[in-house]
Amino acid sequence: MSVDTLTIPTQTVSQSRISELDFNNIEFGKIFADHMLVVDYKDGAWQTPEIKPYGNMSLSPATSALHYGQAIFEGMKAYKNAAGDILLFRPLDNFRRLNISGERMCIPELPEEIFMQGLEQLLRLDAAWVPPTAGCALYIRPFIFATDDFIGVRPSSSYRFVVFSCPVGAYYGQPLRVAIEPNYVRSAEGGAGYAKAAGNYGAALYPARKMQERGYHQLIWTDAREHKYIEESGTMNVMFVIDGKLVTPAVSTTILAGITRDSVLQIARDKGIPVEERKVAVSEIVEAHKAGKLQEAFGTGTAATIAQIATIHYNGEDMNLPALEGREISNSIAAELDRIKTGQAPDAHNWIHKISL
Ligand SMILES: *Cc1c(COP(=O)(O)O)cnc(C)c1O
Repeated sequence: MSVDTLTIPTQTVSQSRISELDFNNIEFGKIFADHMLVVDYKDGAWQTPEIKPYGNMSLSPATSALHYGQAIFEGMKAYKNAAGDILLFRPLDNFRRLNISGERMCIPELPEEIFMQGLEQLLRLDAAWVPPTAGCALYIRPFIFATDDFIGVRPSSSYRFVVFSCPVGAYYGQPLRVAIEPNYVRSAEGGAGYAKAAGNYGAALYPARKMQERGYHQLIWTDAREHKYIEESGTMNVMFVIDGKLVTPAVSTTILAGITRDSVLQIARDKGIPVEERKVAVSEIVEAHKAGKLQEAFGTGTAATIAQIATIHYNGEDMNLPALEGREISNSIAAELDRIKTGQAPDAHNWIHKISL
């Protein structure tokens, strides 16, 4: 199968559901684009991909992913430029990370042409679902799950790769109140924290809910060994501006290597902002705040790009950070990323994969 020759058998919808969508008021994650890509793995090989109408799938109650969590996913976005082309942001990085997650979860490697050609053909078909509106995008969810109907514990011998999408509106999230988590952990050395595995999310829900009950939107995970070092913020990577420097925990086996994280750091370097990727101690954040040097804090991820943090709670105290308007570093990086993603700024790092219609 070469990249040029893979033509995916396609069954189109008889009538598009796009009229159900109000482009001026898009609700997150509720209305899905007309089509999905489905590819099965069996007998030791990925089979012929298919594109078909988005819809329910029938599964055996013994489907192993439902019991033992052998399931991974990705999240990415497509935008429209002024000419109406579809712009995918760093899709090859999502593809590579899917296979990194897959290796950790014993899921067979997916070939690049299935991922890339599948995405291209799916998006061409559902092009009308990519919102042209500023701040909006088509959120794309590729995922793989184990499909053996067998309840013995072992890696499945069959899998399904699916890609579906849904339009998402501008993220007008309020600035976050977060609290540093002193007890629960998301990920430990030797674990699967660096993989985008479904179970990592399942296990994080309870600590997150406990923190919400205490009045915080989200928690900041700390290291499993000592709870001394900062890891991530909820399901985002986390960054701080301390005394003019952009500081973030270095990626490791316990931290997911976010594509937004990498992009933000690259743009910071391009702008000549000093960047430090290293261990970040909780005590350093507390001391920087006391000294008036903690200027900005934010999470990074595909959903929000940059989610500003207003308050960080630690050890009985709320640390309130400077107002959002003055956050020059994160605001300028967020604006630049937005321009790159929508084709309004030069793509100096070859991040954009353009699908011309
Ligand atoms: C997906 C994810 C991120 C962000 O990754 P992006 O590629 O920037 O979307 C960060 N942390 C965790 C735990 C994640 O699952």
